[in-house]
Amino acid sequence: MAVFDIDGTLTDTTALDDRCYVAALHELFGLPGEPAAYDWATCRDVSDSGALVEVLRDRRGQGPTPAERTAFERRFLSLLRLEIEADPDVARAIRGARELLAELAASPDWIVALATGGFEASARLKLGAADLEPPGVLVASDRLPSRVDIVRDAIARASSCAFAGIVAIGDGVWDAKTAGELGLPFVGVGAGAHAEELTRLGARAVVTDFGDPIASERLLRETALAAA
Ligand SMILES: [Mg+2]
Repeated sequence: MAVFDIDGTLTDTTALDDRCYVAALHELFGLPGEPAAYDWATCRDVSDSGALVEVLRDRRGQGPTPAERTAFERRFLSLLRLEIEADPDVARAIRGARELLAELAASPDWIVALATGGFEASARLKLGAADLEPPGVLVASDRLPSRVDIVRDAIARASSCAFAGIVAIGDGVWDAKTAGELGLPFVGVGAGAHAEELTRLGARAVVTDFGDPIASERLLRETALAAA
């Protein structure tokens, strides 16, 4: 089984996501509108739903009401949609991701699950914009702010079939930490100093993209089986 993060792992959408997320925070709550004003890695739950609660608690003393959360999700989604409509290139697939997902989907040896810290509607919007076919299992942060709970739920939902091993794939330091907490082997996506940090956090391997889908599939297979 392969459990993929989405933003920065399958879609090159981290900057787009950050921009729209903080723009919505700025519009609805008067918080800073610059992504640099936030350090997501310090959040306990690095997810769209978790960060919203933490940021509002930190900066105004209380989390969102249900109505505020709904309004935030709506505005965030419409900002994403506006940017994608204006320039579809803001949500491109990571090189090779489409071919790798197709390769895994066609193989009887693999089950693919997506575990994202994003909201489900925004995740599906970005996947669609990047022309990526989501697999049957996609778990988002709508009801689960914790990355550990999101990955655990994705594995549970995908586990109805037999599988030999599991590998988690992601670009964030939080993805590496989540895999570590769950005892899952982890393949990082990143380059340079960021790749070194993912390795330091336990990544078995780090790739810059999936440009060679056959080699990528082999890497995921070997990583999953070595830990099985
Ligand atoms: Mg990511």
